[in-house]
Amino acid sequence: MNESENIINCPNCGRIIPAEKGKRRNHCPGCLAAVHAEEDGGCGGIMEPVSVWVKEGGNWEIIERCRLCGEMKLVELEAGDNPVKVLSVASKPLSMPPFPIEKMEELTRIMGGQGEIGGYDREQGE
Ligand SMILES: [Zn+2]
Ligand SMILES: [Zn+2]
Repeated sequence: MNESENIINCPNCGRIIPAEKGKRRNHCPGCLAAVHAEEDGGCGGIMEPVSVWVKEGGNWEIIERCRLCGEMKLVELEAGDNPVKVLSVASKPLSMPPFPIEKMEELTRIMGGQGEIGGYDREQGE
């Protein structure tokens, strides 16, 4: 087997992705991007990490989404993956909530009452 065939540059950040035990890594340890490999039925596009999934037993997997065709797949976290990048992917939804963060306080207060979202707050409002 030709060792150099397994050493590729990351198409996303340009970093050299070293082969481990003669096996090509399935994602870049630096930016966590992967290639939607054509030999696996993919389109050849870049797959970027969009989230993290914690399996039973506490094992982490990265959810990758293809920029070209939108297909998603799971890749296992590997030794040497950039922990800062992994955590930033994992916390991304929390830093960009789909609602105004100041509403959280109001929601918590409302739900703290009877454990359901009620309207007493609104009635007192005006
Ligand atoms: Zn990369
Ligand atoms: Zn694709």
